[in-house]
Amino acid sequence: SDSGVPGRVRVAVRLRPRNAEEMIADADFADCVELQPELKRLKLRKNNWESDTYEFDEVLTEFASQKRVYEVVAKPVVESVLEGYNGTVMAYGQTGTGKTFTLGRLGDEDTAARGIMVRAMEDILADTSPETDSVSVSYLQLYMESIQDLLVPANDNINIVEDPKSGDVSLPGATNVEIRDQKSFMELLRLGEAHRFAANTKLNTESSRSHAILIVHVKRSVKGRLDIDQGFPGENGASSNLVSSFRPPIVRKSKLVVVDLAGSERIDKSGSEGHTLEEAKSINLSLSALGKCINALAENSPHVPVRDSKLTRLLRDSFGGSARTSLVVTIGPSPRHRGETASTIMFGQRAM
Ligand code: ADP
Ligand code: MG
Repeated sequence: SDSGVPGRVRVAVRLRPRNAEEMIADADFADCVELQPELKRLKLRKNNWESDTYEFDEVLTEFASQKRVYEVVAKPVVESVLEGYNGTVMAYGQTGTGKTFTLGRLGDEDTAARGIMVRAMEDILADTSPETDSVSVSYLQLYMESIQDLLVPANDNINIVEDPKSGDVSLPGATNVEIRDQKSFMELLRLGEAHRFAANTKLNTESSRSHAILIVHVKRSVKGRLDIDQGFPGENGASSNLVSSFRPPIVRKSKLVVVDLAGSERIDKSGSEGHTLEEAKSINLSLSALGKCINALAENSPHVPVRDSKLTRLLRDSFGGSARTSLVVTIGPSPRHRGETASTIMFGQRAM
C-alpha cells in the first residue's frame, strides 16, 4: 500500500518470541499465529485446519532485530520530522508483548538492543547541529485522563493547550529539556522511568495502566532557500539579493511523539469496583478514542474525533494532515492468549 504517505497510518505487527514459561507450558501447542513476512501476511489460527489471513504494511517475526524494527517502523517518521513535519510512533498491544521493549529499551548492556526512542534521538542528533538547531524533550505519563510530568513528577496536572488558529498543541506546564548529546538523553529516559515507577507504586497501580509519552521538539533555522531568494525579482527585473541578505533565517518547528500505550487487554469490569473500575474505564476510553481517530484517518474521513480523550487531543497535531504516523501492534505467540491477540490484530487492521 501507499507507504510513507502523510495522513495515513502505517501499521506493522511484531511477534514476541516465546518466553521460558511459554516454552514449557505451550510445548505441545503451535503458536496462535503464523507469519509470512515476505508476503506481509499474518495467519491467525482458528483451529488445527483453518486460519484467518491478515495483511499489514510490515510483518516483523520473532527474529526481527531492533535495528530492522526501527528502520521499518520509525525511521521514515523521524526523517520527516527532520524535514519539518510532525510525526507519531505508537505501540499498541497486550501487556507483556513487547511495547516497551520495542520503544523504550535503552540497550546499555548491548547496543543492538536499543529501542526506537534511543535510535530516533541518535538520528536526530546526527542530523542537527547545536549552532543552528535545537532539540528538546518532554516526557509524560497519561493516567486516568490526567497528565503527569515524568521529569518533574510533582507536576501532575498538565494542561493541553490548543491554538485555535493553527491547531498546534502545546503543554505549557511540561518540562522541556534541551538535549545536546545522547548520554544526557539516556539519563533523562532513566530518570523518567524511575519517576514513573515511583509514581505508580504510590498510586498502587502498574505502569501498564498508563500511557508513556515522549515528545521530541526539533527547531531548525533554515537559511532562505535559493529559489525563494531569487524567485521574486523587483518590478524592473532587479535582483532582490540585497533584500534577501537581510531576511532572518526561517525557523522550522516540528515534533516527534512516541507513545507507549497502556496495555490493551480487556480488564474484567464485572469483578472490579472503585479505583480499578475507574482505571479500566479510562483506559478503554482513551484506546477506543484513539482507535476511532485512526479509523477515521484510514477512511479519509473529514471528521477525526480528536476531542473524545486527552490522548487524542494531545496527538491532534501529530497525526493526520501533513503528519506521518506509524503504529506497531505487538503480539505474543501463546495459544492461551489467542483472544487478546485477535483483538490486537483487529485494532491494527482497522487502522489500514
Ligand atoms: P509490554 O511493554 O508490552 O508490557 P515488554 O516490552 O515489557 O512488554 O516485554 C515483556 C517481556 O518480553 C520483557 O521481559 C521483554 O524483555 C521481553 N520481550 C519483548 N519483546 C521481545 C523480543 N522481540 N525479543 C526478546 N524479548 C522480548
Ligand atoms: Mg511496557
